[in-house]
Amino acid sequence: MAITVMVGEKPKVASRLAQALGNYSVESNRGVKNYVLEKNGDKIIIAPAVGHIFNLEDQSDSWDYPVFDVEWAPTFETSDSADYMKKYYNNLRDQLEKADEYINACDYDLEGSVIGSNVIKHLTGASNERIKRMKFSTLTSSDLEEAYDNLESFDEGMTEAGLTRHILDFYYGINVSRALMKAVRDNDRYKTLSTGRVQGPALAMLAEKEREIMAFEPDPYWEIFLRNSEFDAKLERDGENRLWEEEAAEQIYSTVEGEDETIVSDVDTRNYKHKVPVPFNLTDLQSEASSQFNINPKQTQAIAQTLYENGLISYPRTESQKLPAKLGYENLLKKLKNQKNYEDLVKKVLGKDEIYPKQGGKEDDAHPAIYPTGEQPGNLSKKERKVYDLIVKRFFAVFGKAAQRQSVTMTLEVLGYEFKAKSKITLERNWFDLYDPYVRVEEAELPELEEGQRLDVDEFEKVEKETKPPRRYSQSGIVSELEKRNLGTKATRAQIVDRLYNRDYIENDPIEVTKLGLSIVSVLQKHCSEVVSEDLTRDFEEKMQNIRDGENSKDEVLSKAEKNLGKVLKAFKEKQKEIGSELVETIDAERNRKRKLGPCDKCEEEGRENGILQIIKTQNGRFVGCTNYPDCENTYPLPNNGTINSSDKECETCGKPMIFVERKNNRDYSMCVDPDCPSKDDW
Ligand SMILES: [Zn+2]
Ligand SMILES: [Zn+2]
Repeated sequence: MAITVMVGEKPKVASRLAQALGNYSVESNRGVKNYVLEKNGDKIIIAPAVGHIFNLEDQSDSWDYPVFDVEWAPTFETSDSADYMKKYYNNLRDQLEKADEYINACDYDLEGSVIGSNVIKHLTGASNERIKRMKFSTLTSSDLEEAYDNLESFDEGMTEAGLTRHILDFYYGINVSRALMKAVRDNDRYKTLSTGRVQGPALAMLAEKEREIMAFEPDPYWEIFLRNSEFDAKLERDGENRLWEEEAAEQIYSTVEGEDETIVSDVDTRNYKHKVPVPFNLTDLQSEASSQFNINPKQTQAIAQTLYENGLISYPRTESQKLPAKLGYENLLKKLKNQKNYEDLVKKVLGKDEIYPKQGGKEDDAHPAIYPTGEQPGNLSKKERKVYDLIVKRFFAVFGKAAQRQSVTMTLEVLGYEFKAKSKITLERNWFDLYDPYVRVEEAELPELEEGQRLDVDEFEKVEKETKPPRRYSQSGIVSELEKRNLGTKATRAQIVDRLYNRDYIENDPIEVTKLGLSIVSVLQKHCSEVVSEDLTRDFEEKMQNIRDGENSKDEVLSKAEKNLGKVLKAFKEKQKEIGSELVETIDAERNRKRKLGPCDKCEEEGRENGILQIIKTQNGRFVGCTNYPDCENTYPLPNNGTINSSDKECETCGKPMIFVERKNNRDYSMCVDPDCPSKDDW
């Protein structure tokens, strides 16, 4: 009997594959479950990977750069946190040894192609002819069965493109990160710094916005309101509400101020359509989950991945906004009807004359847009339930009809000045009914008035405002922007943003770039602008697509990258120390800022100037002292555990500075620097 070994991306996926393909038995080996079954007289063993069992490793033995000599090595050997992978690695080796044929049944994308082919090729040396590829977009039994019946040949294009991406990212990541850290080290400091092929351009984009905001100077302007018991109207001249001169505003205001009546001079009513939304791709889902539930893009991606692994939704890492007819819309809808809370909505959709979804513009050659499979969800966490519901409702909504809306602009005249009141209402809800409660539209009604009608005015008001700086990117906003600029992939964008946070380059949401982030970008732009240039990154994305299509070869692309990067790094190295001193200035300033807590209470009491409490570290430990030492001997003790920084706040009880304590595996907290402060009485 011929033996085929099928590799699943994760243990859970391996078990779903087994359930789909028929009667199986479980055979444990080294603590790993394999699934064994017979199909058409052949024996099939389904063995799980756990993501990337192989990882790239730097082959040189020095901690220098440039490094272009990389090899794939077992991840458990190269990463301390990957020890758990060892048994999976050994199990895969044991199973693959028995095989005559191989099937890569990992997720159908570049990552899945790399995971599966690395395992099979590195552990067996098998030729492409002996490896088959399984292509599926959901983990439902029917789709998996169909995929098994229509096995594809080895996905050489996708595999090569995936391998190239990994190596390119490794080239850029390791070399430039090392260069930065060495530059800092040349100046006797130590700090973990990193950048990457996509991370660099992403940070540069954020820094550009930050600089715009820093350079922004607000301009004052004035608006004049006409207020009535039922609505507000705004002065409008030449299509503009804002008055840039205070004098002009004051003049108009004092003219109309005493009036207590106005005439409706025009009512402009317009009906328009509010379009049906398009099916979700990953970025759209991330952005909607962020605005609806305040769940960040990385979390949304993880939740969607879990829903997919449970067979509830289709593969989420897709760029597509299209739902092809072969999915069988009616069948999916009927399955969803079995869930009580969706029954009525499904009836609405099925009651339509034509059941055809709205399609978006973006495509993905591997997967359709995200859709629910119709399988019954088991126990979902609160957040999983929310994201699932959003995906289901969006799936319904795309089958809806455009909503009918109406906007009314009413012009009110006072002594020749025109004030406008505006409203928007919904006339026919249509798809809104299918997407509730996620419809976000403004509903504001105006009383029904006719031209020539007189109205009472309650008051006029002149309000001073100022122009606002450009808006910051939110986490989901930057993910969408990266997609728009074709930087990174759907699978990696959220992770890249996350890494920028971990490196202290950015903070908060909406995103603020830290001084360190700004200085990394300015150093890179000055000394190796290629590394933060969008063009280069995009150029590589195109090349990767070409490799997929068989138009470029992996070696060609890699050797070009090596040549480019080699040149850049050589130039960097020549100025390494100088570059480092620029970075160190910021690193020191940031460290100092975090060390300084606030004004010294004792100095204030005793009338000494410039006394600042600061964190002081000595060989014997740390404590808080005053910058006026030895004139001021004020000190406070500090806890022994955790990282302590200034919290930029003062204690509400006693007014002394607060400190912020971060503890590994424990909750962070803020507290007053004074151990005797009454705010600590309950501690
Ligand atoms: Zn002092
Ligand atoms: Zn206090």
